[in-house]
Amino acid sequence: MTDAAKIEALTDQLLSENDPADPTGFRGAQYDMGLAWVHYPVGYGGLEADPQLQRLVATKLREAGVDFTDVGWNGFGLFLAAPTIVTHAAPETKARLLRPLFTGEEVWCQLFSEPGAGSDLASLATRAVRDGDEWVVNGQKVWNTLAHVADRGMLVTRTDPDVPKHRGLTYFALDMHSTGVEVRPLRQITGEAEFNEVYMTDVKVPDADRIGEVGEGWRASMTTLMNERVTIGGSVATRESGPIGDLMKVWRALPAEGRDPVARDEVAGLWIEAEVLRLTNFRASQNRKAGVAGPEGSVAKLAFAELNKRIYSAAVNLMGPEGQLIDTYAFVRPETANLTGGLDVRKMFLRARANSIEGGTSEILRNVLGERVLGLPGEPRTDKELAWNQVLRS
Ligand SMILES: Cc1cc2nc3c(=O)[nH]c(=O)nc-3n(C[C@H](O)[C@H](O)[C@H](O)COP(=O)(O)OP(=O)(O)OC[C@H]3O[C@@H](n4cnc5c(N)ncnc54)[C@H](O)[C@@H]3O)c2cc1C
Repeated sequence: MTDAAKIEALTDQLLSENDPADPTGFRGAQYDMGLAWVHYPVGYGGLEADPQLQRLVATKLREAGVDFTDVGWNGFGLFLAAPTIVTHAAPETKARLLRPLFTGEEVWCQLFSEPGAGSDLASLATRAVRDGDEWVVNGQKVWNTLAHVADRGMLVTRTDPDVPKHRGLTYFALDMHSTGVEVRPLRQITGEAEFNEVYMTDVKVPDADRIGEVGEGWRASMTTLMNERVTIGGSVATRESGPIGDLMKVWRALPAEGRDPVARDEVAGLWIEAEVLRLTNFRASQNRKAGVAGPEGSVAKLAFAELNKRIYSAAVNLMGPEGQLIDTYAFVRPETANLTGGLDVRKMFLRARANSIEGGTSEILRNVLGERVLGLPGEPRTDKELAWNQVLRS
């Protein structure tokens, strides 16, 4: 039997033997049958098959009306933590963490940024000190999206301050319910508190929850960040969906006299740019699936962020004075992060400001493109070979 035929047969079996009304049970069975991520190793939710074959599972589930978008939003787990765990964690750790992540029983957040370490993530200061089979963690993280609903955090810590900054880091799967973890809301420009500060005081983390080798946290972090950038900017949307869909709704709702030729020109230009980005992402995803990640993938997040801001500016401009009125500025604690439209356009105009900061700022992405894709000279880095504790920090 070919891999494709086997995957189709297993998906039929999954559907016939399990009830989607019980999402945890259904997704647990999906994981156990290797249909969670078909390209992952056997025993970790996969079948070591071609990643393109995942669409066979997705198509059959969709045709059967199985849709788990209401299971709880675990994008950080599914798109960032899972590839990091499967690539870097020890076999026992993978087996323990991946299943509840896939079923939605454990929701994940990302604990990377600190008040003094954002773009320069490798300079982070949260300390983890070994104590037998455990580590004792002290420090503060910031801007941690959905940490208030998370069960686990992707935590990067400093375990060796005496070596250069990239070499002294270690990555853990933090149990967010541990004693000493405190999550405090941070209110955003939209009025909502989608993200948080996370304080850790003498938090005990078992060594069994380490992801990757001691001192190899930078390598594991890069896996997370690469996946984050593709997740934020690189998904292949349907034509005229997301932000450009929001703009088109505003445009079509305008009375004829509101559709002046200058505005029409701007809207048409933005529509074309959105379509070019969508097709570029499509090409990039085909290349990735064929195993040859091209430069298209690197522009996705940068282009997405800058285009979104212009699209929502155009939308609120078209709305005239109404574009300046926001319906509510209530303090709420969302359980999902909205990156791609669907909210009130005026709120999305405010939320889109964050697109060029989260997951790496546009300036940093331009640096990455300049150095890694275009081969331009690198930024001067004076602290690369200095021990972390010898470098001045803000
Ligand atoms: C909505 C939102 C959600 C987020 N969610 C999370 C999360 O869940 N988990 C998490 O860990 N973090 C999260 N972040 C944090 C995000 O990753 C950081 O804000 C980002 O990496 C920038 O770091 P910083 O804020 O410390 O800014 P800084 O690094 O201090 O940068 C300040 C300014 O200087 C510029 N700059 C810095 N260095 C350079 C350079 N070398 N060359 C040119 N310009 C430079 C930057 O582009 C920026 O404009 C989130 C941020 C936002 C806005």
